[in-house]
Amino acid sequence: MDITFIGAARTVTGSLHLFEYNNHKFLLECGMFQGHREEAERINSTFPFKPKDVKAVILSHAHIDHSGNLPNLVRRGFTGPIYCTDATKDIASLLLLDSAKIQQYDFEYLNKKRAQKGLLPKEPLYTMADAEQTLKQFEAVEYTNTFEPVSGVKVTLQDAGHILGSSMVIIEANGTRILFSGDLGRKNMPIIKDPVNVNDVDYMILESTYGGRTHQSFANMENELKGLIEKGKGKGSKIIIPAFAVERTQLLVTMLKNLYDEGALRDVPVYIDSPLASNVTDVFRRHPECFDAETFKIFTESDPFNFPSLHYVADAEESKALNDKTGPMIIMSASGMCEGGRVTHHLIHSIENEQNMIILTGFQARGTLGRKILERAPTISIFNDEFKVRAKTYFMGGLSAHADGEDLIHYVRTARDSRLKKVYLVHGEIEESQALQQKIKSLRLEVDIPQSLTHINI
Ligand SMILES: [Zn+2]
Repeated sequence: MDITFIGAARTVTGSLHLFEYNNHKFLLECGMFQGHREEAERINSTFPFKPKDVKAVILSHAHIDHSGNLPNLVRRGFTGPIYCTDATKDIASLLLLDSAKIQQYDFEYLNKKRAQKGLLPKEPLYTMADAEQTLKQFEAVEYTNTFEPVSGVKVTLQDAGHILGSSMVIIEANGTRILFSGDLGRKNMPIIKDPVNVNDVDYMILESTYGGRTHQSFANMENELKGLIEKGKGKGSKIIIPAFAVERTQLLVTMLKNLYDEGALRDVPVYIDSPLASNVTDVFRRHPECFDAETFKIFTESDPFNFPSLHYVADAEESKALNDKTGPMIIMSASGMCEGGRVTHHLIHSIENEQNMIILTGFQARGTLGRKILERAPTISIFNDEFKVRAKTYFMGGLSAHADGEDLIHYVRTARDSRLKKVYLVHGEIEESQALQQKIKSLRLEVDIPQSLTHINI
């Protein structure tokens, strides 16, 4: 088996790995590289192989840094199947169409500016039509069922416990077994099942996003949220919660549902103002087979993603009407890093009022508006207007859907047996991967951090 690490090698986005067996090529992931526009355009638009030569793609989960460049692969000639779980297929369908739509708007705006300067228009990476064609090539497979993406290669998906439908991928050819972790989740998180322990493999390709960090425990998060809501309730605050549309929104909704049942949300209406998050929540309701025992039990009796004071905001008018309402209230909206989406409008209307609160609930990448709020910048700029940050800002650090350094090393230790020869670390900034590398070395295992275009034969 030949493997070329292409994307998410010493970085966290643009996951892409090329496999070749008996001259048959297939891909693990085809994610979008996210970064500064020009660099992203260059990296996403060029593949170091011919897309038409690729026979199949295996997709671990729907997140755009793993799936977001698939329509571009299709646009450039890939016609084969894209294997993933049914839930991944459903979420990826929403995310890829959304991604195509955002690009279309962005490029219309960009091309207007270019035309003013007498420059030729640019084309987006892909269009809605490319995304729609891509969806036709998805082929759902069940966890633990084995399939053959190319002749002689057997593949099995196992639950990675990261987001709904997420998988690890076990690839077997000629007696050699390789485990690709995809993004690995955490144990004991609400809604979805825990990651499955896999052993009896020769090689491991492991993510290392938080290889050097330890998350806050999830156990305290509900109490922390309760405390913040109490604080806001007393002041009549608008509590703005920027949240990722996939998994984070649903996780927070289940936490709020528990608080509602306890009586802690009396007189505090909750609005979920993100059409994408609402649609993704519908996908969750269609896939109870992915739920853990606790959520499944709730699901058989009621809706785990609803309670009487929760409102899923339907249209833009209803969203705008929230501006005129007075607190206390909770508005949860995407995007999670405050880069675009309806949350930007809620920030515009709330951030200059000191009685309001902003609760950040996830990773805030460098350069994003969310990062500036997290670092307590005194002013921020939204759509070229300056705003003073007077609202109180908070960060809940225990909600991550990724394994941390401790979880990752525990995972390797559990999987470790006489068969495991080497671990390759991907999907991490170099400092995080190196921190994990040191820990794995202490288990006396061989471990490498491949650069982009590193080629191995195993
Ligand atoms: Zn992910």
